Amino acid sequence: MDYSVARRRMVEQQIVSRGITDERVLDAMLAVPRHLFVDTGLQSHAYSDASLPIGEKQTISQPYMVAAMTAALELQGDERILEIGTGSGYQTAVLSRLVKRVYSIERIAVLAGRARKILDHLQMSNINIKVGDGTMGWKDQAPFAGILVAAGSPDVPEKYLEQLEIGGKLVLPVGDQSQQILMRIIRKDKDIFAREQLMGCRFVPLIGEQGWKTEPVD
Ligand code: SAH
Repeated sequence: MDYSVARRRMVEQQIVSRGITDERVLDAMLAVPRHLFVDTGLQSHAYSDASLPIGEKQTISQPYMVAAMTAALELQGDERILEIGTGSGYQTAVLSRLVKRVYSIERIAVLAGRARKILDHLQMSNINIKVGDGTMGWKDQAPFAGILVAAGSPDVPEKYLEQLEIGGKLVLPVGDQSQQILMRIIRKDKDIFAREQLMGCRFVPLIGEQGWKTEPVD
């Protein structure tokens, strides 16, 4: 299978066709080998219009959702970004091509370890990954120009608002455990936050002190 052809088709048919125009985002999606972030048995599906299982009851996000969330941050190239929910590391890889540095938090150690290995293999050296509860943010490295949350939260965790710089953007899914609204919150001034609803979406739950308290039951 020619993965670069599959990738081009993915960008044209799933991302450009749905209105994403940021050339830097499109270039990053064309460049990152998404098939390396899934199990070998799923590689032939890596460029399909869907999320896919990555083990530990978690998923690699749908390509369009990765593109839409990334585009919503309106990145220029010199930002420091916080990502919550490293998962496979695919979104991390896309962000790493678009900003100065990516700080990413994953609560499941095996996933963080696997992501670290692939990102190292791809020689992406501007990424810090840590294992822990991402609902508290990453205080030592704050403030951030952007915070991207790849898991659904019942509310907007206070720490994310606190850890955004002025002009910074937070993109996160808010709702119940089965469906959410993707929101963008821009910190206009110290105490002024502009909120927008971008689209409906479905993410795995954000589990932690400021998110859902327990894992969903099957
Ligand atoms: N962007 C990732 C999405 C992975 S799914 C990808 O495309 O691969 C969301 C991830 O968020 C899961 O790996 C889950 O373990 C993680 N997660 C859930 N709650 C978290 C928390 N409080 N802190 C850090 N990671 C969390």
